[in-house]
Amino acid sequence: MKYEACIGLETHVMQKTRTKMFCGCKHEYGAEPNTNVCPVCLGYPGALPVLNATAIELCCKAGLLLGCEINPHSKWDRKNYFYPDMSKNYQITQADRPLCLGGKIVTEVNGELKTFTLERIHQEENAAKNTHASSGSLIDYNRAGTALMEIVSNPCMHSADDAFAYIQALKLIMEYGGISDCDLEKGHMRSDVNVSVRPVGQEKLGAKVEIKNMNSPSFIVEAINYEIARQIEVIENGGKVIQETRGYDSDRSETFSQRTKEDAHDYRYFPEPDLLPVEISAAQIQKWKSELPELPVQRRERYVKELGLPDYDAKVLTAEKHISDFFDAACKLTKQYKLVSNYMMGKVASLVTEKSISVVESKLTPETLAQVADLVSGGTIGSSAANELIEILFTSGGDPKVIVEAKGMAQVNDDSALEKWAEEAIAGNAKAVADYKAGNPASVNALMGYVMKQSKGKANPPAVIAMLKKKLDS
Ligand SMILES: [Zn+2]
Repeated sequence: MKYEACIGLETHVMQKTRTKMFCGCKHEYGAEPNTNVCPVCLGYPGALPVLNATAIELCCKAGLLLGCEINPHSKWDRKNYFYPDMSKNYQITQADRPLCLGGKIVTEVNGELKTFTLERIHQEENAAKNTHASSGSLIDYNRAGTALMEIVSNPCMHSADDAFAYIQALKLIMEYGGISDCDLEKGHMRSDVNVSVRPVGQEKLGAKVEIKNMNSPSFIVEAINYEIARQIEVIENGGKVIQETRGYDSDRSETFSQRTKEDAHDYRYFPEPDLLPVEISAAQIQKWKSELPELPVQRRERYVKELGLPDYDAKVLTAEKHISDFFDAACKLTKQYKLVSNYMMGKVASLVTEKSISVVESKLTPETLAQVADLVSGGTIGSSAANELIEILFTSGGDPKVIVEAKGMAQVNDDSALEKWAEEAIAGNAKAVADYKAGNPASVNALMGYVMKQSKGKANPPAVIAMLKKKLDS
């Protein structure tokens, strides 16, 4: 029998807010544990929550970027559970009336354009951070109550590749949109992955297994592949897949049973009495729409249409926001867009790998890279000197023109020097000269090679060709 996997993701994204969701405590990574806390986020009885307007704005803007409908009337609910990381014994979230409804992500999977639909986005608060040591468990409440959105997809993905492409696209949109830094190391983006399998042609979904709290996209891929194979094997052997929560062991690349899944009613959701519903006007939604930044797909289109770049370049450059931002800044200072693109994808990218630092951390700036492109297009330096110059600027910085001067990197455009080399080339390469005169124009390249060698690569190639042709044709 043939099987089809159905995969849905519930992705938690920590928003870029200055303070927490329901109190004025600072939202800060790496602070001394339990210093950014107050009666509200520690769950003291009687402490009242106050809504963070920026979080609501960021959640709605995320929704608008993802094509969701903004719910004009949303409300808050308490999700009750007892666990040390949520000291008031409930989490404030949105059950039946979330901020954003529907939506979709359109992205390429192995060269094919696919649409993945969303069910909803709701706003909630983060739990504290538990650290389990052999001597006991430690809890840091600095994270408790920070703003967290949950982006829920439909079970519309059918392979680990689909899920990987979905996560990458979602991450880029959140970064470009200024919603979240999406730093995976800092836990800014974590997904619960739901996987089920069913015989091809069957409408009803199979029993679903949930793998909780995954932040690494490559582990998500491994976990999904393992889980699909495991569930098919269970069914093929006459068994039944149990609806449960499973963990992922990255050392063994396999999932393991944790607990059978609670149903939603176990959480005894009920309306939050301490917060008013959120009313959002059409005018407010319009205003947010007008403030939305350019998304990667729009930027890619702009690079092709306005800067005349090949689609390949546009795709590579927009794959990471900081690279695209750097490229954009350089292109404001020069018209040599294709040259800048070549350097970003070529020399700069290889230096980033070689030195293990990002272009932003390097000493190269959009200004100096733009100047390099202008020096090349103006004929001051050749392409090998450009690569050498970029390396110097990347590691040590400086003024490109001063470096070119100091290192003697400028091309030779001087007619008398070129004439001398051209005459030598012609005198020493009788065969190439004869071929040229016999009607083979390509043989001028042999002479050109001689001149480039004599000039140690500094002769300006178009000027050399012109000089050789002038001599040969006279
Ligand atoms: Zn607080």
